[in-house]
Amino acid sequence: MRLKPEGIWILEEHDDEGTKNITLELLSEGQKLARRLNEQLCVCLLGSQVGGCIPTLTQYGAEKIYLVEHELLSECSLDAYAFVLGELIKEYDPYILMMGATPSGSELAPRIAARFKLPCITEAKNITGQEENLQITKSAYNDQVYITIDPLARRPLIVTMPPGETDIIEPNKPREVEVIKKNVEIPADIMRTKRKRIIKGDPRTIRLEEADIIVSLGRGAGNESLPILQELADALGASIGGSRGAVDDGIIKFERQIGISGKTVTPRLLIACGISGAREFTAGMENSNLVAAVNIDQKARIFDYANLCIKGDLRMIIPQVIDKIQIAKQKREKGQVLGLDTKS
Ligand SMILES: Cc1cc2nc3c(=O)[nH]c(=O)nc-3n(C[C@H](O)[C@H](O)[C@H](O)COP(=O)(O)OP(=O)(O)OC[C@H]3O[C@@H](n4cnc5c(N)ncnc54)[C@H](O)[C@@H]3O)c2cc1C
Repeated sequence: MRLKPEGIWILEEHDDEGTKNITLELLSEGQKLARRLNEQLCVCLLGSQVGGCIPTLTQYGAEKIYLVEHELLSECSLDAYAFVLGELIKEYDPYILMMGATPSGSELAPRIAARFKLPCITEAKNITGQEENLQITKSAYNDQVYITIDPLARRPLIVTMPPGETDIIEPNKPREVEVIKKNVEIPADIMRTKRKRIIKGDPRTIRLEEADIIVSLGRGAGNESLPILQELADALGASIGGSRGAVDDGIIKFERQIGISGKTVTPRLLIACGISGAREFTAGMENSNLVAAVNIDQKARIFDYANLCIKGDLRMIIPQVIDKIQIAKQKREKGQVLGLDTKS
């Protein structure tokens, strides 16, 4: 180990579509931290054939990338991840290691901390202060209280942050950065578990913050449109969320409210139906990857946040959208039977 721990490290997370939003959020937070502490912002990129993620990581501020590719990392085996991360920590001794408070980050962080007897703070909201007086604030009891924690002196410090806590910065152009490619032998006997299959959670009941697609209802949807919007959600494998207007009108429950006094969400796609787009609502969804909005009012503020703006009555539009989805699904199924390209 070096004399002094160095670098703000981010553990990258990806899926078939590339680097996940949580990593971009951590990079955005990590940039501020790295600047304040005068540290380098580094990313641990672990997986199998993940080199394609490097340009995105550099666009969002990565200054150095530790790349480990191994077939055992392709299945996101946490035993393999924990082993490889441990090897990197032993060799490079980072100052802070940040992960998403995601299913894998939430398991990995305490494992690493226990192995090296390190401080570990989960579900952090923010990290403030300088090197000698770092403070981490985390929420407890469903945001009823906030706790400020002094991580004391031992480093590296392990921190997990929940998705949706940080605004994603504007990306720069991809640039050349130092990529340290490591070959790590993963001993067979460290594999204590093997993932056999993945069963997708029911979008009707999963936590809204974890939803990949959200159909979001507003007061304009009214109670009478709930069945058709649920049908849209089912067709897309989406979860239902909504505005405070929808909660106040009894269309959805408070646990499904998006916004400053509700949940912060970062789905791949959010479809806003009958929502005006008050700032208290948009504060909770503005980091969504893609937004489609349906509203009868051309001047609705939600359109400022939408990639696809549909002006019209949702009661007319949504049934047509569902028809199109069903047709596309049928075409895709036929394509699979005939062995055609099913991605188009
Ligand atoms: C302290 C505080 C905290 C708050 N926190 C939150 C929060 O966390 N989340 C939140 O959402 N709000 C929050 N609010 C409330 C917020 O200010 C708005 O009042 C709320 O977001 C409005 O909800 P809405 O867009 O569903 O309703 P409205 O503003 O009433 O908008 C309804 C929209 O539906 C459209 N519409 C009507 N009929 C149709 C139709 N048939 N087809 C298509 N479009 C149609 C209308 O044109 C309109 O734009 C908060 C307010 C305060 C003061």
